[in-house]
Amino acid sequence: MKIEILGCSGGIGQGLKTTTFLIDETLLLDAGTGLELLTMERLLNIRDVVITHGHLDHIIGLPLMLATIFDQHRAPIDVYALPEVITALKEHIFNWTIWPDYTTLPEDNPIIRLHPVDVGDIMNIQDKAIEVIPATHPTPTAGYLIKDASHSFLFTGDSGLNEPLSALLNQHQPELLIIDVSFIDESTALAQLSGHLTPSLLALQLKSLEYNPRIAITHLKPGVEDHIMQQCHRLLPQQQVDRLLQGEVITLR
Ligand SMILES: [Zn+2]
Ligand SMILES: [Zn+2]
Repeated sequence: MKIEILGCSGGIGQGLKTTTFLIDETLLLDAGTGLELLTMERLLNIRDVVITHGHLDHIIGLPLMLATIFDQHRAPIDVYALPEVITALKEHIFNWTIWPDYTTLPEDNPIIRLHPVDVGDIMNIQDKAIEVIPATHPTPTAGYLIKDASHSFLFTGDSGLNEPLSALLNQHQPELLIIDVSFIDESTALAQLSGHLTPSLLALQLKSLEYNPRIAITHLKPGVEDHIMQQCHRLLPQQQVDRLLQGEVITLR
């Protein structure tokens, strides 16, 4: 499985794009500003889009992508998200005010089909099984456990301390964990208010882990990335903890 990191920042700025992961060229996990990096041909190759939640940094690329490929697209794109996120997309994005309603365009064969999914569901998409896992964030949010025949990884989505996560990790033992650590420890109050982890909360989250996955930190707030990673390394000296990097291509094999 090939995971291309098109965006993994908690903000924007020169060289920084928001959460956008492209898996095996055809499956998109969150649709942030990282979509800007794809050519037309690669945009056209995307068949399915899985969305963690409706916050703008995770969806803003989707309406823009649809407008870009509209004339040339080959088949409808299937979009999967929690029911509340599907409703939010319909009411607040594809409402003819913010953007055209691409769920009805073109009339005979609309370019997107929206599919609500619930926590606990396992979707069979392309050659993968994708389990919807819970997350803790101020708006309905999911994480996803993505498996193919031989490999798996788990992306937490945006989330603060997530009680069921440890058991899910121990049960499935994905080899890679992509986890949101947006803030430094000094900003713990803000992290808790906004539903993100700090390095100390990460250490707490991983305390009952019974195996050693590779851990990739995502959604770091611009300007404090190095500080976050220093605190992570100090608190978790035994774990393999790296910062997820934009442009990185992770091949699970
Ligand atoms: Zn969010
Ligand atoms: Zn976010």
